[in-house]
Amino acid sequence: MTDRERPSVVIENAYIAPVAGAEIPGGHIVIEGDRIVAVGPGRADAVPAGAVRVDGSGCLATPGLVNAHHHLYQWAAQGIAPDGTLFEWLIASYPVWARMDAEVVHGAATAGLAWLAASGCTTTTDHHYIFPKGRGDLFDAEIEAARAVGLRFHPCRGSMDLGRSKGGLPPDEIVEEIDEILAATEDAIRKYHDPSFGAMLRVAVAPCSPFSVSGELMVRSAELARSHGVRLHTHIAESLDEDDHCKERFGVLPVEYLDRIGWLGPDVWLAHCVHLTDKDVRRFAETGTGAAHCPSSNGRLGSGVARVPELLRAGAPVGLGVDGAGSSEMTTMAGEMRTAMLMQRARHGPHALTARQALELATLGGARCLGREAEIGTLEPGKLADVALWRLDGFLTAIDDPVVALAYGGSPPARLLVGGRTLVEDGELRTVSAAEAARAGVAAHRRLTAATP
Ligand SMILES: [Zn+2]
Repeated sequence: MTDRERPSVVIENAYIAPVAGAEIPGGHIVIEGDRIVAVGPGRADAVPAGAVRVDGSGCLATPGLVNAHHHLYQWAAQGIAPDGTLFEWLIASYPVWARMDAEVVHGAATAGLAWLAASGCTTTTDHHYIFPKGRGDLFDAEIEAARAVGLRFHPCRGSMDLGRSKGGLPPDEIVEEIDEILAATEDAIRKYHDPSFGAMLRVAVAPCSPFSVSGELMVRSAELARSHGVRLHTHIAESLDEDDHCKERFGVLPVEYLDRIGWLGPDVWLAHCVHLTDKDVRRFAETGTGAAHCPSSNGRLGSGVARVPELLRAGAPVGLGVDGAGSSEMTTMAGEMRTAMLMQRARHGPHALTARQALELATLGGARCLGREAEIGTLEPGKLADVALWRLDGFLTAIDDPVVALAYGGSPPARLLVGGRTLVEDGELRTVSAAEAARAGVAAHRRLTAATP
């Protein structure tokens, strides 16, 4: 990237919530290259030559938000089984998803990633687990979209090998053979995974769920991921139907099953984690296993309320995820902060999750889930310059506390930087056209729903 595309940036006069350390009312952030070089009160002492100066008056600066769970392809398949449980929604969605091709994935990912960037997200993961034969390179299609939008991207090469004929939930037509899954996953790691500091692209290994994946695939996926030093991800403990399935097939509850097959550890983060026993919560903390909390999706599917305060008290890493738009219909990361707070408070009272805890889940918590807490998730010198500058003027001036205003009220960011590169300026996406990204999402939806099953 040239200096022209990434000049030094100095943000001044902003209320800074660095997530690590004290908040700074009226402070500065100095960015050189892809790094933060200074954060402090008042004006910047030294301004690099040629720096772009940004007046942050009336704005809150936070770390860019980190989305810990997503299925970008689902942008093209929203609104299915709008009143169904997880299993009912999946059974209705599988035949639609089975029609996807690389063009659908590219269009859906472009819209989904632009939506995330425009709403303050700087790093996202994606969990893609359906690869119908002869439909092009679906994994590459979403990576190409992420490069265009400019988000830091952690695509997970997902998989399903347990079709209905073998006791799984998905139809046989959309599952793959175990050897081809492992070969394609290893190819994806070799081709795209970048372990270096500041990487824009890291790959994880992610069999889909206990009711769509064999035990053998789980075990061999973990061996593959660990032999390459990449992370592991899957869905777990999302619904009570899943509890029943695990008790019937494995004789234990979902997290005990994972524990038994070596799937808890500091290199693992798990989506949902709604139905946890006290022992499960302890095991998350003891093993350093991360939980990606997806409150809108859990609410939409009536799955339940995750034990977030208990996980936090135990010391487990907890991030937030928007989950696929198929089960959360276009929520944003700031929206998930608000929903997470409201769900916990409705259940446990107003102290259950504060605005600042919600911001921490959406930033440092997500960074911990992705193993990147040394690089992103807080505003500190030496970290990557992934910064969101939120406008809190206009209507939101009515709330005095900027962090409360963001977490309760939300607002689109005025400016968004990823590794010092500007993705959003004056509230507008600069890397891709928001209007074109929206059209790409609609075209993907039409192509998917018009395709012959
Ligand atoms: Zn999911």
